[in-house]
Amino acid sequence: MIESVKQISILGSTGSIGISTLDVISRHKNQYPVFALTANNNVELMLKQVLEFQPKFAVLLDVSAAELLRQRLSKKQVSTEVLSGKDALEYVASHEKVDYVMAAIVGAAGLLPTLAAVSTGKRVLLANKEALVMSGDLFMQQAKLSGAQVLPIDSEHNAIFQCMPENDTSDLQTSGVRRILLTGSGGPFRSLPLGSLESVTPEQACAHPNWSMGQKISVDSATMMNKGLELIEACWLFNTTQDFIDIVIHKQSVIHSMVEYNDGSVLAQMGNPDMRTPIAYGLGWPKRIDSGVSSLDLIQVSQLDFEPLDRERFPCVGLAEHAIKQGGTGTTALNAANEVAVSAFLNRQIPFTAIASVVAGVMDRYQRVDADSIDIILEQDLLARRLADEQVKCRAC
Ligand code: NAD
Ligand code: MG
Repeated sequence: MIESVKQISILGSTGSIGISTLDVISRHKNQYPVFALTANNNVELMLKQVLEFQPKFAVLLDVSAAELLRQRLSKKQVSTEVLSGKDALEYVASHEKVDYVMAAIVGAAGLLPTLAAVSTGKRVLLANKEALVMSGDLFMQQAKLSGAQVLPIDSEHNAIFQCMPENDTSDLQTSGVRRILLTGSGGPFRSLPLGSLESVTPEQACAHPNWSMGQKISVDSATMMNKGLELIEACWLFNTTQDFIDIVIHKQSVIHSMVEYNDGSVLAQMGNPDMRTPIAYGLGWPKRIDSGVSSLDLIQVSQLDFEPLDRERFPCVGLAEHAIKQGGTGTTALNAANEVAVSAFLNRQIPFTAIASVVAGVMDRYQRVDADSIDIILEQDLLARRLADEQVKCRAC
């Protein structure tokens, strides 16, 4: 049987998820022709990707980077059109010829292009969790209206999705689900003496023991704000509340999350920590396709450990839980404050432990409003960024 061909746009193709996505696609080139590749400003890698995948469009946000790419491509035998700017990201995410969109831009910059894909009914492979954290209600409403299939790529949510009952998951309780177990490795500082946290460097924070990822999510994993963002993400994706979800620390990252049923059964999805597995699952669903990931060697793993979350070490999880309780734009503000704080830490303006205090300081002063429209969400994102900038300046002086 001939498989149907799906044209795909990859938002954030030069990043960690983007590169893994192209690796999976290279194994199924005829089935997933690349319609568009997009990135911020990495001309060298984009050039290489364009030459290999020959997309219809290549988008670089940065105008001068796009011009450079155009010049470099003019000497080659490719018909790829180079575009630049934010509108171009939305254009390739919502183009009528596109079937699938990989949403793998990092942070709030991914919100509008991801929403463009969601509101035009694409299959959206969602890696960009910040988009959902910022705009959950609107995002899910638009998906419902357009018929978009939102498939989670975040490994935990992909695992939960794989362990969910096959048919009706619109109401978990009536589907027999008792709870969701969201696993987290605890990151690089799970067992570092608490007193040493103050002086850890960006390099140490980005050296995750199990996963190789972009800088921002690596720092989020080190503070465990990543688990907080994932808690919010899970509430929206699985139409549930935080009291239905337990966080479990599992340092080996072999089990990627679990679903417990009323009869006491606990289903876990396991595999090597390699994002090509959830990416291949999202591309192939409901079928399984080759991802290039090697077999899990359980003898080599030999042991699976579980621990409770250490809330003193990881205060960011509590901040995220509080933001969910606030509702409305509470989680928009949390995300914005965290992005500002992480970038200040990466630029060595504040110590690691100040990430949580900057976010806490913003959340103390921030007044949530109803997240009724995209304009309100963007306005509140800006407002929270301003509050966070003030907190960072306060700490730096
Ligand atoms: P990354 O930093 O490696 O890559 C980010 C990509 O976004 C790059 O292609 C970059 O060019 C592009 N980009 C950055 N700023 C941009 C802007 N302003 N406008 C347009 N494009 C921009 O990040 P990553 O690790 O690949 O993560 C991407 C997303 O996937 C994040 O939301 C992250 O939370 C999520 N995620 C990543 C992993 C992982 O293993 N890396 C796992 C789960 C979820
Ligand atoms: Mg994850």
